[in-house]
Amino acid sequence: MSSVAVKEDNALKVSRANCAKNTVVDVKGCSIGGEEIVVIAGPCAIENEEVLKETAFKVRALGATILRGGAFKPRTSPYSFQGLGVKGLEILAKVGESLNMPIITEVMDTEEVSLVADYADVLQIGARNMHNFSLLKKLGQLNKPVVLKRGLAATIEEWLYAAEYILAGGNSQVILCERGIRTAETWTRNTLDLAAVALVKDVSHLPILVDPSHATGVRSLVTPMAKAAISAGADGLMVEVHPEPEKAWSDGEQSLTPNDFNHLINEIKPVVKASGRRLSL
Ligand code: PEP
Ligand code: MN
Repeated sequence: MSSVAVKEDNALKVSRANCAKNTVVDVKGCSIGGEEIVVIAGPCAIENEEVLKETAFKVRALGATILRGGAFKPRTSPYSFQGLGVKGLEILAKVGESLNMPIITEVMDTEEVSLVADYADVLQIGARNMHNFSLLKKLGQLNKPVVLKRGLAATIEEWLYAAEYILAGGNSQVILCERGIRTAETWTRNTLDLAAVALVKDVSHLPILVDPSHATGVRSLVTPMAKAAISAGADGLMVEVHPEPEKAWSDGEQSLTPNDFNHLINEIKPVVKASGRRLSL
């Protein structure tokens, strides 16, 4: 099917044909998909309360409105740190509450959906699970925002159909997230597909975020790609930040320090303005 066909297909809930107005998802008073650009930040994985608290406090003060952190981590190797699980969810909820920040975290398993939903304000479906239709169907039954990351090598059409699974189940609070796709390139972790951002905005009414951290895997590329993402029409960013990236338990090489994050916010400000948007603060 062509993008034009998807755009005009009013049988598809994701399609622009069904909704000329952009969908705006409310996360505890923070709007995603409207005029405001939302910045989600935090560590790749929740390691302990102290590190999360320090990170959250700093990113909040610098302009992030939603706190991220993984408790269930989809690691390439089964021997790598798999996340703190329930303990991580407890820490994330506690820190989020203490700073009045909504929280987002990944759910990997259908059996853990209700558990994760008890703690999180937004549930994340990771790239590796974009094709997990049982999980998509389960999230379709929730009344909670879902961030749906693009699969590692998914086409835009497959990604939008994955979103359709959630919408079809009755949950309309879907936020897409472009996080790079696998290409022939090896100098970056993934290839950020910015055309997908502009294209999705054209064919669908759903909000779309960009994750320049996983899209590049390289700290120095995160800020330039964050600026490019906003220029391309993204409704927000999801960025990994760690107080001491060299000591991070996962994804240290792509994590920004709080200082780097401050620089990112300063760099995106004029781009946000030039795009006719404003930062959600
Ligand atoms: C993440 O955001 O923590 C993550 C694992 O990302 P992705 O699913 O995009 O690889
Ligand atoms: Mn990560």
